[in-house]
Amino acid sequence: MIWIIRNWEVTVFVGALAAVLTHFIWERFQNKRALAKAQQEYDRRLLVREKELAAQGQARLEALFDSMIEGVLLLDPLGRVELYNRSLERMFQLTTGIRGLTIIEAFRLPELVKLGEEVQGAGEVVGFDLELPGENRRHLQANATLVAGAEGARRGALFVFHDITRLRELERTRQEFVANVSHELRTPLSMIKGYTETLLDGAKDDAERATRFLQVIDRHADRLNFLIDDLLVISKLESGQMPLNLQPIELRGLAGRVLEQFAARATGRQVMLSNEVGEGLCATVDVDRLEQVFVNLLDNALKYGPVGGRVTVSGRVNEEGMLELGIQDDGPGIPPEAQARVFERFYRVDKARSREQGGTGLGLAIVKHIVHAHGGKAWVRIEPGRGATFLFSLPQLSAAAAH
Ligand code: ADP
Repeated sequence: MIWIIRNWEVTVFVGALAAVLTHFIWERFQNKRALAKAQQEYDRRLLVREKELAAQGQARLEALFDSMIEGVLLLDPLGRVELYNRSLERMFQLTTGIRGLTIIEAFRLPELVKLGEEVQGAGEVVGFDLELPGENRRHLQANATLVAGAEGARRGALFVFHDITRLRELERTRQEFVANVSHELRTPLSMIKGYTETLLDGAKDDAERATRFLQVIDRHADRLNFLIDDLLVISKLESGQMPLNLQPIELRGLAGRVLEQFAARATGRQVMLSNEVGEGLCATVDVDRLEQVFVNLLDNALKYGPVGGRVTVSGRVNEEGMLELGIQDDGPGIPPEAQARVFERFYRVDKARSREQGGTGLGLAIVKHIVHAHGGKAWVRIEPGRGATFLFSLPQLSAAAAH
């Protein structure tokens, strides 16, 4: 009986022990599984984060690459396009992708192929200027260099393109300007020199001839003076060194005051001057500069208009709500082919006539600059047989604000 009891107790004990052990092992197994799962989840998140960071880095690099002003092109060791940016697309006006193409396939420019070959041989930065064909001619400065691989092995070539079209244009304009100015200065100077030499050669002893020659010298000296004045004004206007001293002004009054300055000259040529600027039109302007606009336009109207003609200054508010002022004459007018060019420096419709009248060729260019600086524009209207009407616009100032 005692044995049976003992045996029963042992069985219960062993059973309990087994249950406890099983539970313990199960729990550990469960914990291990949870731990492994957590580790897996952690690794997965880490991977996602790394990928996100890599994608962000890549996106930033691409944004930087694409926002560069220079065009960049990377070729692989086989000479095929591996990478390029937006500026390059724009410069070469690429309409399709060029990745994987050779230079000649992508650009059809033998000069670029030559540059690619040169850089392979040179091992240093090679550069040259490139003129792109087509209507919209562009000048590029191209630099190419080899790109080293992991162990210094040659990998490919990197091309960087700078668009120097604007620089070239500025350089051309500067050269043209210097050539024009020299020409304009030389003409009166050679007249002065010629007449002075004639005087010294004996004409000075003939009082009547001497007076005539001295008058010519005086006229050409004046012309030189005007030219230098205009050159200084235009160079200040173009370099933005002429700050505007703005103040509200009533335009009919201003036009009237400028017309008065021309009264004697108009009487001499029997030209009728009239002021048809509407009452109460006001603008915020630099009065001296705006007077110069009126003076230049009225001077031309009297210079090119006929004796016994008529010059009218008008002013109104146009359909765009801008003030529109016009100076109309009944002279020969501007031929249609010159309409777009009359405001250029030194452009003349009739060179001989303009010089003979003492023009500097800068009057309308000055007008254009002053009007632009005031936020307006200047143009000429052509109506065959009705002379020339030079117009300019200015932002309007309400009469209330002017007082
Ligand atoms: P310029 O000193 O030669 O007059 P501008 O710049 O004032 O220079 O004018 C440029 C050219 O435009 C003139 O040479 C002239 O041929 C032409 N022009 C200007 N105003 C008139 C006008 N009212 N009538 C006819 N031609 C004009």
